[in-house]
Amino acid sequence: MDLEKLIHDRIRDVPDYPKPGVLFKDITPLLADHVAFAGVVDAIVNHHGRGTIDKIVGIEARGFILAAPVAYHFGAGFVPVRKKGKLPARTYEETYDLEYGTETIEVHADAFGPGERVLIVDDVLATGGTARAAAELVGRTGAQVVGLSVLLELSFLRGRDRLGDLDVHTLVTV
Ligand code: IMP
Repeated sequence: MDLEKLIHDRIRDVPDYPKPGVLFKDITPLLADHVAFAGVVDAIVNHHGRGTIDKIVGIEARGFILAAPVAYHFGAGFVPVRKKGKLPARTYEETYDLEYGTETIEVHADAFGPGERVLIVDDVLATGGTARAAAELVGRTGAQVVGLSVLLELSFLRGRDRLGDLDVHTLVTV
């Protein structure tokens, strides 16, 4: 089975989660399928080329699950971007708008060396607010964001439009 079809088959639609009117894309069936999980990790690594990146950023929480094996296969370090209040040392923080209210995410201020090449990895690109805030955070540390890889892009939410000239790589789009 080709990877794109396998990914589509293993992502489950959950209506009215986390609130009425939202159709949530649940990636847990994909993670539970070792062929699909490995295929996704390999596709991200192959797209960029092993050895071209110094650090992989994973965005809490599902981004961690994909970013950690990508970092391992790249031979790169892993850096978590977390919701406010979860990282213990000095951080930079970035606040962005959600549909209702705001969210704040953080990264450790010393997570990267100057000019390090960084790839951001997450599960879903929706409105793009989270990815944009993560890219801002990395930029503030003095590192260089070379791209964003996501498993699933919800193109009708036009997240790409908020990401300027960032290199956005998505494995499947709906
Ligand atoms: P955005 O900031 O609107 O682009 O939302 C992307 C963030 O919200 C990512 O970190 C995703 O993990 C999460 N997210 C948004 N929609 C979904 C979904 O349908 N399934 C899983 N995660 C989602």
